[in-house]
Amino acid sequence: MKRTRLPLFIFIDAFGWNVLKAHDFFLADRVRDRRPLRTILGYSSACDPSIISGLLPCEHGLWSSFYYSPATSPFRCLRPLAILPEALFSRARVRHYLSAAVKRWYGFTGYFQLYAVPFRHLPLFDYSEKKRIWEPHGLPRGQTIFDLLSAQEARYFVHQSGAGDERNLARLTAQAGAGELDFAYLSLGRLDALMHAVGTRSAKVTELVRWYDTRLRELLAAAEAAYAEVPWYVFTDHGMHNISATHNLPADVDRLGLTFGRDYVAFYDSTMARFWFLTPAARERITAGLAGHPQGRWLADEELRQWGVYFPDHQYGEAIFLMRSGVQMLPSFMGARFTAGIHGFHPDDPDSTAAISSNQPLPATGLASIHDIFSLMLAETGLTDPRPAFRAGLHPAGSGL
Ligand SMILES: [Zn+2]
Repeated sequence: MKRTRLPLFIFIDAFGWNVLKAHDFFLADRVRDRRPLRTILGYSSACDPSIISGLLPCEHGLWSSFYYSPATSPFRCLRPLAILPEALFSRARVRHYLSAAVKRWYGFTGYFQLYAVPFRHLPLFDYSEKKRIWEPHGLPRGQTIFDLLSAQEARYFVHQSGAGDERNLARLTAQAGAGELDFAYLSLGRLDALMHAVGTRSAKVTELVRWYDTRLRELLAAAEAAYAEVPWYVFTDHGMHNISATHNLPADVDRLGLTFGRDYVAFYDSTMARFWFLTPAARERITAGLAGHPQGRWLADEELRQWGVYFPDHQYGEAIFLMRSGVQMLPSFMGARFTAGIHGFHPDDPDSTAAISSNQPLPATGLASIHDIFSLMLAETGLTDPRPAFRAGLHPAGSGL
């Protein structure tokens, strides 16, 4: 006997609206409805927790990876290594092994990379995504769909980080075909990695979208053989920009004659610079020094508030500078190499726009941003929305917030 229903939520990293439109063949005869979705300023570290919780970064607490917090920095133990030449640590393999060692030492279960953060600066920073967000209790604040499903003892599939698309797809296809599941969430990362390397217009991108098309059809066929109904949603968190220029923003800041760690602290993401000011003079000089910059601009608190990434305690920075779209900050703490494709620019850019496709009619209202995908998961599972109670707890009645 066929089981009744298996909702499939399939996340393809960076499969934004413009990339989707350029590959119109993708599940074309199976898609009933599709639509662009607004992304959230930042990277997957901000977007993914928002999709699975329906909360904005200022609510769940995860925005960028690193933040200034010398008192809680897990990297203090690396301080002795700072006397070794920086050139040693800029080697990808050394970084890779050290990242794995730090992750193991501290029991981090989330996504963790040291990237190209200079070793001498690491003890100034803490890292936000210490836990694997795909497991219950993965967020600093609020609940994800996985908290709700595990509380109900539902049988659900979630991808294994690091296993790769091929293995995760094979595992889900087998479990769906065996009728073992009530719900599935699969994250696929290969397209994002490929477009970082070659941009969006390479024939290799089309080849990979074709591979996804084939493999997802196999998954749907297996699930539909075992279940009477298989509502599915293929979606993403953001698009991808092709990089047209690079700019050395850290050098502009260095020229202001201030000392990192004494006057100010900065974290240079590939599209954003986030600053903490240790003296009023540094605040003034950096704010004025980067004002009117041709390759980017300061973001107003009001913009950050509108986008759900304003933190009253300035956890992720007291001032945020965003690069002009298509301009890679190079070098940054994320890397010292030119990257053909990057995301994390202004959320209103067409190339930033995310997307969702489904074999179901999408709701006319309440599905405009990536964090609204959570409402679809609630509707498909019949679970109660935990957000009203969460928000009531955050802002008790009469608090005036
Ligand atoms: Zn990416």
